[in-house]
Amino acid sequence: MTSAILVVNAGSSSIKFSLFMDRSDTLDLTVRGHVEGLFTAPRFVSKAPDGTVKSEKSWPAGDVLGHAGAIDHIIGHLRSGFGDGSRLLGIGHRVVHGGKAFKAPVRVDARVLSHLEAFIPLAPLHQPHNLAPIRRALERVPDLPQVACFDTSFHRTQPAVAQTFALPAGLREAGVMRYGFHGLSYEYIASVLPAIDPVAANGRTIVLHLGNGASMCALAAGRSVDSTMGFTAVEGLPMGTRSGSLDPGVILYLKDQLAMDARDIEDLIYNKSGLLGVSGISSDMRTLLASEEPQAKLAIDLFVYRIRCWLGALTAALGGLDAVVFTAGIGENSPEIRSRVCSDAGWLGIKMDDAANVAGHERISAGTSRVAVFVVPTNEELMIARHARRLLTQ
Ligand code: AMP
Repeated sequence: MTSAILVVNAGSSSIKFSLFMDRSDTLDLTVRGHVEGLFTAPRFVSKAPDGTVKSEKSWPAGDVLGHAGAIDHIIGHLRSGFGDGSRLLGIGHRVVHGGKAFKAPVRVDARVLSHLEAFIPLAPLHQPHNLAPIRRALERVPDLPQVACFDTSFHRTQPAVAQTFALPAGLREAGVMRYGFHGLSYEYIASVLPAIDPVAANGRTIVLHLGNGASMCALAAGRSVDSTMGFTAVEGLPMGTRSGSLDPGVILYLKDQLAMDARDIEDLIYNKSGLLGVSGISSDMRTLLASEEPQAKLAIDLFVYRIRCWLGALTAALGGLDAVVFTAGIGENSPEIRSRVCSDAGWLGIKMDDAANVAGHERISAGTSRVAVFVVPTNEELMIARHARRLLTQ
């Protein structure tokens, strides 16, 4: 009998899902979809991998369909489609925070769930939404196993110096440390590198996850040794709407001199900064690249400049550089940003093949480049499905 794994990625107002069929040597995506507009104008859609709509449903505007109702609908919808003899093996959930304790994905029961709830203060904007579907599924379909996969756990291989802030030790004990994020994306890239290039897989590689959220990770033989995101997913690069690293004194100034409270500052650094804040135009890189406005140019310049600086810093952390990998929305789709990043990094031994870059090839470095450069689409959902299958079939 064929088994299927449901992958769930729950945010504040939407739940995205993907269904993978276990074909023993591969996991094949068969359905993907979402429920958007939770609590306001909920709408469900499921699609075949080619984008053909298979099912749709809308609830009356203002219907208070939340995460619990949405996951009930998704599970009910998918289970009703299993008349073909296949069965749902379990659900793999994306969970932003695994704290210090969870160094790998875990099967969730009530005890594990309460442990994960203890990390809500570390990621208050994401963790509660990630956990809501797990709680509901444990109640409603206790026979269906749940697996939590964390954005943080891939980074637990980092040396202590990369995970530590220069703060009193007691604060580190209390959990104030650099966790790192986008771990499922980096883990996926590390998992496919051996088939792409043995030197990148076994050597010193920097992966640039450049999407609406953006970060970079230094891999030594496929293991994370440092990353640009730290205690929260705000540290590091400027992003679509997040500020990236700030002098901590800025936060004190905003509070003391501009009378902003914690929620105001949170809204500022998560939702109103980055490309959007600097440009005053958009958080979308495509819009900024198409704009003639000087502020749009400044926002892009700043994004590229910070990448340049972090490339230097992460190369220092690795003690050298063998390969660079671009991934996520901007990294996979913008030859212009890739070109600018690479020409800034000529001093590191990077030489781009411009034609290969524009053509969207997998390897975009010139034959004479000392550092190999690749474009590799990320696939966090597949990474979650792989983890869930491994844990549920052991
Ligand atoms: P993600 O969060 O990985 O889905 O990435 C979203 C980001 O990718 C958005 O900021 C888009 O502006 C950006 N993006 C997608 N396609 C392109 C493109 N062709 N050129 C530049 N940026 C792009």
